[in-house]
Amino acid sequence: ALPVSDRPSRAVIDLDALRHNYRLARQRHGGRAFATVKADAYGHGAVPCAQALAGEADGFAVAFLAEAQPLRAAGLTQPILILEGCFSAAELVAAHALGCWVVVHHEAQLRAVEAHPELTGLNVWLKVDSGMHRAGFAPAEVREAHRRLAACPHVAKVTLMTHFARADEPDSPATAEQIACFEAATASLPGERSLANSAGVLAWPAARGDWARPGILLYGADPLPVPDPALRAVMTLESEVFAVRELQPGDALGYGARFVADAPCRVGLVAIGYADGYPRVVPTGTPVLVGEHASRIVGRVSMDMLTVDLTALPGEGIGSRVELWGPQVPINTVAAAAGTISYELLCHVRRVPRVYV
Ligand code: PLP
Repeated sequence: ALPVSDRPSRAVIDLDALRHNYRLARQRHGGRAFATVKADAYGHGAVPCAQALAGEADGFAVAFLAEAQPLRAAGLTQPILILEGCFSAAELVAAHALGCWVVVHHEAQLRAVEAHPELTGLNVWLKVDSGMHRAGFAPAEVREAHRRLAACPHVAKVTLMTHFARADEPDSPATAEQIACFEAATASLPGERSLANSAGVLAWPAARGDWARPGILLYGADPLPVPDPALRAVMTLESEVFAVRELQPGDALGYGARFVADAPCRVGLVAIGYADGYPRVVPTGTPVLVGEHASRIVGRVSMDMLTVDLTALPGEGIGSRVELWGPQVPINTVAAAAGTISYELLCHVRRVPRVYV
């Protein structure tokens, strides 16, 4: 068959690195760990990532029911935790049919569980708001919510969970306060505990529980300010130089003339743009790798292409490989240049084919 496209842009997904990072998370946390594969595994492909982890993951966490369905359809039999819980009683019934475990974080979800005694063996995670003030039962409501769940004969197991707002800020007292709040709100209640996201696993030993829920660290992007060298980047976003331009002093490059040559320079056109998920907002100077050399974005990123500086790289030209992020260009650096976080960049990768290695 003819190739659909010879465009040399792709997201290479290193499944060995994914397994390595999962093992690291489990080892650091010291308990079991759900591999968080919501949002299509943060842009890496939920089914292939879950399949790659199937031999060792204790379970998978997704945001909502529709994200669990492809995992079951692919034959994955591990526990699947639905982090947002169900949006309706019909979803709860469907989640039960798929053998999913469901978070309950507000009154309507609790009532839906109570109203469906036929859903036997239900595994419920009761979410406590320990200080994020987003989702979860307030500390004062937790005991009553727990009592109501425990009173349901069809609820087989109640696990207590919470989520951190600022675990990626090692100097903030907020996480220790959340841990203390969670412990006080759940003291003497039976059931397993789950506190840690990635930053919790990496930076907060006191957040150890029975289950961790690492996401971003599985993909090799450290949420903390000082990256852990043991993490391995999973996605490499890469393309090639497909044309070269020479600019003379005074020549303006690209939309908005954001870069004006002050000396003769050589610019490479790279076949990837913001429609592929590379952020448009990054300024001139944002690092890229061309061949084996550090280089930089020049001018504005376009929809389908962007431009890199080849002036100091006479050996690089048409066909040179360009790494936009990956093992040699930390995604956190690109995210900082774009004023965002790695999570958003990864989730926004689209249009380029994913290649699994
Ligand atoms: N647990 C919950 C409840 C979440 O909402 C998320 C993601 O937002 C995670 C765990 C995973 O977080 P992270 O990717 O920071 O590890």
